Amino acid sequence: MFIIYIDDRKEVLNLLWFKKSKDNFPIIKCSYMLGTIINLKVYGENAAKGIDKSLKRIQEIDDKMSVFKEDSEVSKINKNAGVCLQRVSKDTYYVLETSLKYSDMSKGAFDPTIRPLVDVWGFGRGVERVPNKEKIEYALKLVSYKEISLNKDEKSIGLNNKDQSIDLGAVAKGFAADETRDILLKNNVKSAVIDLGGNIFTLGSNLNGDPWRIGIQDPVKPTGTYMGIISVRNKSIVTSGNYERFFISRGKRYHHILDSKTGFPSENGVISVTIISDNSIDGDALSTCAYVMGLENGYKLIQSIPNVDAIFITGNKKIYITDGIKNNFKLVNEEYIVA
Ligand code: ADP
Ligand code: MG
Repeated sequence: MFIIYIDDRKEVLNLLWFKKSKDNFPIIKCSYMLGTIINLKVYGENAAKGIDKSLKRIQEIDDKMSVFKEDSEVSKINKNAGVCLQRVSKDTYYVLETSLKYSDMSKGAFDPTIRPLVDVWGFGRGVERVPNKEKIEYALKLVSYKEISLNKDEKSIGLNNKDQSIDLGAVAKGFAADETRDILLKNNVKSAVIDLGGNIFTLGSNLNGDPWRIGIQDPVKPTGTYMGIISVRNKSIVTSGNYERFFISRGKRYHHILDSKTGFPSENGVISVTIISDNSIDGDALSTCAYVMGLENGYKLIQSIPNVDAIFITGNKKIYITDGIKNNFKLVNEEYIVA
């Protein structure tokens, strides 16, 4: 969440000092959907149309996948837990099926049936608190991605046990970012930055034909302070960090990425993972996977996947960068050490 576009400053300079034609300036629209701030910055003559269509599509995805909307498809699956399968749209089926691929790949570190656990911690409902042991134990028993039944022909999804529930919060923004990219491409947009609460997709190049430069949030500094810059074209950049959503109780900080083995916020030394990939749904799922898996196993997993790279930051200010992105990363805060 909260990644900074370094190019914005240049644009303001262009506007004020070099008085470039207004066609060189993007249309920027902000909105609040998927539980986060949406920011679309789109260039070219079809920008307005592309943005309108994209925002409608993001709203549609939110309506289908939100756990907070009573009649969303995800809520219907959850209400029918232990009872029957629920027919869903192609979108929800695809997002859940993709989630399960990453559950297998991460041996359950990423688990879309995490909802009962998220719920006892109160995340997303504004009632965060440290739950008692019994509540955590009960919720943990319900977290099991293997207890999902799927019928591909009918496009239906069911939870095998009563009280189980799914949460697509760790992947839905990624899916929506990919859909937005596809809509913009169909509308002939060549250059854009799609930002869905830090799930970034950089479409094409910036106006100078150079790669987009995206700042990576310093996990221990105020929002907007970046510790490094990555330069990319046509890539998704997604960060999962312990600073994104958290609360403090008795001086201890508890964040929203949960370890499905312990039932507690994942604590393994990693405090931020950024994934650079071609598709944002993969980046979104993998940033959560790698965060929970930790440095050693997470790094190995990312290195094993073609065209996917990662930047891990640990609490002791070390940075671990996979081979494919090393040359595109520039450190700007010397307190950090590239390991
Ligand atoms: P953000 O939503 O802040 O961008 P993530 O993509 O890492 O961050 O997703 C975190 C969200 O995913 C949590 O708010 C919760 O809804 C859900 N979640 C938490 N832990 C897990 C997990 N181990 N597996 C799958 N989803 C999780
Ligand atoms: Mg994620």
